[in-house]
Amino acid sequence: MAELVPLRPAAVLEAWEGGLAQGTVERALTLLALAMPGATRDALADLSIGRRDALLLELRTRSFGPTAPCVVRCPRCEETLEFPVRLPDLRVPAPAAAEAVVTFGDLRLRVRPATSRDLLTIAGAADPVRALLERCVTAERASAGDPAAVPAEAAELVAAEMARLDPQADVRFDLSCAACGAAWTTVFDVVSYLWREIEAEARRLMAEVDALARTYCWSELTILEMSRPRRLAYLRLAGAA
Ligand SMILES: [Zn+2]
Repeated sequence: MAELVPLRPAAVLEAWEGGLAQGTVERALTLLALAMPGATRDALADLSIGRRDALLLELRTRSFGPTAPCVVRCPRCEETLEFPVRLPDLRVPAPAAAEAVVTFGDLRLRVRPATSRDLLTIAGAADPVRALLERCVTAERASAGDPAAVPAEAAELVAAEMARLDPQADVRFDLSCAACGAAWTTVFDVVSYLWREIEAEARRLMAEVDALARTYCWSELTILEMSRPRRLAYLRLAGAA
């Protein structure tokens, strides 16, 4: 896989601009394409969702550090919980096999985890679950080896197998509320988390560019390519920080 580089300020603005009108699956690809200039968007789209998320965790760690501050509302008493999540702790080892064969009646089902391409393709389908099943599962008669349709009754078994093959795609952790004692499990969605950070960082950078360009008439790129301490020093001199 191509090398992953941290998102520099100019790339943060590019990511924000590119992802603005996109859905979650496309946004994840936009972020990775900027961070991995050596990989084609096609190759990134063919990564499993877990592999994609592992790369996004790495990207976030390299761009903004390994600790992610989280804010969650207690589902029972609505108290706000604030806690840091160590992103390297969310990494799950990938299973050795990229696909699995499971038996369902007289069928052999070859199962692989879903990719971004799968999710983008099934987005407009009348029955997305069925469409995903057809993309990620190949069925054949165990005896004759003839191709067969994937039975709808096998969906649960197949879904469990897909999840087992790609554990990084569904990262959960336990939380408890100090105020009321409620305990629950929450999902860490790295795409949404990183996107919110990109949005906030892009707005901050644009405000800085705005302030410095007004005072010094420097170009956007010149300002974005400065180190952060240097940009902040000029912002102070300009009376904007
Ligand atoms: Zn509570």
